[in-house]
Amino acid sequence: MRKISFNRKSLNFRLWLYFVCFAMMLMAILWFLQIFFLNTYYQDMKIRETAKVAQTIEKQFGGEGFNDAVRELSIVNDMYIHIETFDGTGIIFSPATEERHRPSYAYISEMRAVREQLLRSADTHVSIIIPEARTDTNTLAYASYLNQSPNPFNRVILYIFSPLYPVSSTVSILSTQLAYVTVISLLLASVVSFYLSRKLTLPKDLMANVSHDLRTPLTMVKSYAEMIRDISGDDAEKRNSHLNVIIEEADRLNLLVSDMLTLSGVQSGAIPIEKSRFNIKDVIESILQTYSLHSENEGYDFILSCGEDVAVTADQEKIKQVISNLVNNAVKYCGADKTITITVKEINNKIRCEVEDRGEGIPQSDIGKIWDRYYKGGAAAGTGLGLAIVKEILTLHNAKYGVESELGRGSTFWFEL
Ligand code: ADP
Repeated sequence: MRKISFNRKSLNFRLWLYFVCFAMMLMAILWFLQIFFLNTYYQDMKIRETAKVAQTIEKQFGGEGFNDAVRELSIVNDMYIHIETFDGTGIIFSPATEERHRPSYAYISEMRAVREQLLRSADTHVSIIIPEARTDTNTLAYASYLNQSPNPFNRVILYIFSPLYPVSSTVSILSTQLAYVTVISLLLASVVSFYLSRKLTLPKDLMANVSHDLRTPLTMVKSYAEMIRDISGDDAEKRNSHLNVIIEEADRLNLLVSDMLTLSGVQSGAIPIEKSRFNIKDVIESILQTYSLHSENEGYDFILSCGEDVAVTADQEKIKQVISNLVNNAVKYCGADKTITITVKEINNKIRCEVEDRGEGIPQSDIGKIWDRYYKGGAAAGTGLGLAIVKEILTLHNAKYGVESELGRGSTFWFEL
């Protein structure tokens, strides 16, 4: 059984760490931009907006419907616009003359301040931010010349005042939201990394199991070879029995390696499912063919109950592997009874295949575990991979499968296509 370990060097942990760090970094950037730069960003945006409005006014200055256009701009952009001659004697546009409810010269002190700036500046326009201690709402004051007469007294000055609302309430809303987003993204990062690490660590995982499972038979081979060299080399009988152990272990190794390759191939998707329509009876018969030695020499009895033409759509080679693993288990665990029954029938538009033996059966407590990789029950001498391969292949086919078993009475493994 695979364990998810969280030691600090494991891939799981590192993957989780990377994901969480990545999420934290993104969040930090977001916090920084939203919370610390919001005010600056907002002010810059306002300054740009004001400059744009001023440009529009400059272009239309002196044109027809000028006052209407300015009034419209003032309303749409929530700006207080005032245009007058250099010495302030001639008012060209003022909300006081346009909209009765606005107080005249609402921004009188601000106007003085920005005018001073403009006169001192070599530029044709200036903008300043004037703090307002009482209300928190600062004012963006902008002033520019609308015409470029060499005699300053002939010039016309445009003033635009725009309220800069405090961003603190927005910042506090954003902070709350960001707190939620941070928690959610950390959770998501954990879940995704956990899921990914499960997927990614499989081949790693395999290495751990491979080294463990291969070591045992290899140690056996080595020790028996040494035994032959040092002790039994001259004794034909002992030597042969030791050589047999070596041959058996080599066979086991062979089986183990091929099972491991099949399982990891199917699991990683390296061996994709290729469906075709075929007659399942042919497949079963070809499997039973390989057991003809068992039937003839060792008295095994294989009973096949299947219609003549039972077509299924599936990956033929992989289904063959499934049936072959099930039959192989039935042979291994049928005990003295030696009768294996394979039944193929149609139920609810599905083809159901059953492999039954009347052997030792499986304890109820083991039923859930037998499909796990490397699970070997009782005195089993297999690789513990057979049913894991079956499970993997049938899952890829979205096929139902299962086992009914009773201790001492035998087991029926089944799947439906
Ligand atoms: P193994 O190589 O050990 O047979 P499997 O994955 O094929 O590995 O099977 C896992 C375990 O399930 C076996 O070790 C055995 O205990 C049990 N098992 C599988 N098939 C049968 C069966 N037909 N009868 C009894 N026990 C079985």
